Amino acid sequence: MIDEKIIDRELQNRYQQLVEKDNLLPIKISNFYMKKLIEEIDTIGKGGPLYRSVIPVKDKIELKTSVETRDYVEEDKHNPVENCDYIIQKYENRLVFIITDVCFAHCQYCFRTYNLSKFQQSNLKETIKNKILTLKKYLQSQPNIREVIFSGGDPLSIGFENMKYALDELKQWNIRIHTRAIVYEPSIFTNEMIELLSKHNVRLVFHINHPYEIDEVVEEKINDIRKAGIRMYSQFPLLRGINDNSKVLIKLLIKMDELNIRPLSIFIPDPISYGAVNRISVDRIEKIMDEVNWNTPSWINSTRFVMDTTIGKVRRENIIKREGKCITFSRDGKTVDYYDLDDGIDIPSPIEKLLWRE
Ligand code: SF4
Repeated sequence: MIDEKIIDRELQNRYQQLVEKDNLLPIKISNFYMKKLIEEIDTIGKGGPLYRSVIPVKDKIELKTSVETRDYVEEDKHNPVENCDYIIQKYENRLVFIITDVCFAHCQYCFRTYNLSKFQQSNLKETIKNKILTLKKYLQSQPNIREVIFSGGDPLSIGFENMKYALDELKQWNIRIHTRAIVYEPSIFTNEMIELLSKHNVRLVFHINHPYEIDEVVEEKINDIRKAGIRMYSQFPLLRGINDNSKVLIKLLIKMDELNIRPLSIFIPDPISYGAVNRISVDRIEKIMDEVNWNTPSWINSTRFVMDTTIGKVRRENIIKREGKCITFSRDGKTVDYYDLDDGIDIPSPIEKLLWRE
């Protein structure tokens, strides 16, 4: 049980029931992140941006929209190898490899909640080595695939020896690692790990959602990684209650730019079950996008706002129709419908709460 200072007992019990019955991820917070969380609670109480990243709030359980699904991007329909839910391929030249189901902490907004908890409950979990050998065999039969994206779970949680094995086995392919370890468990980036990632010329894509996630310890680690010549990028979701204000995004993007992290994409949250708490209306998303665009230099405003869908990633310029709450995107001759939030749900977070240190 987590201390009542952090979450009320009743809410925690209700959430735990949903973990068991509805495959939500159990609350998990690293000691490193917990220190920041306590600082935030001591300053503004519960419900701040770091809090909502890892602790369920009442709205997470109670707020529903008329159209939502467990797996909006339908990852489980894109498994090219039979009985291998850990290999996901949506594009011809790259694939996602769920190298582990373990994360250093569980994000409340995780779009992969359902699939991750399925992996975690599965009795058929394979060893990392078996997964890599299966993946390698598939890659060898697919000459068009050039890039393997390690995802999860958090790929860095597999530890040095497993990572070394994976990178050695897959050295023919470009490797990209998506991770939140830098904010949850920066100590995982030991000199040995940094050297290994550098030697294999991997691309590191950090998921950092809020400027307060980058403290001195994180900054120092990012500098060590940069000095080793590792290419660093960022992708993160736009989340109500966490970073739904252009001032927060600009602060975060500038901070990352100063640390040589190249911003790639800001993701619009999927209409997934238990996700309404973090979603933002399309009107407000476009307003935030414009504010970021108009108030930042081009190396910041080149960041793309994207939405992952069943037909791949789409952007604002891919909208071909708006009819009521239904917005239709088109890509490569295919279309997909996205349903905007129902009215009355999207209440913007107060900036004094989002940037409580200022
Ligand atoms: S670290 Fe990534 S995979 Fe793990 S809970 Fe957070 S968003 Fe999901």
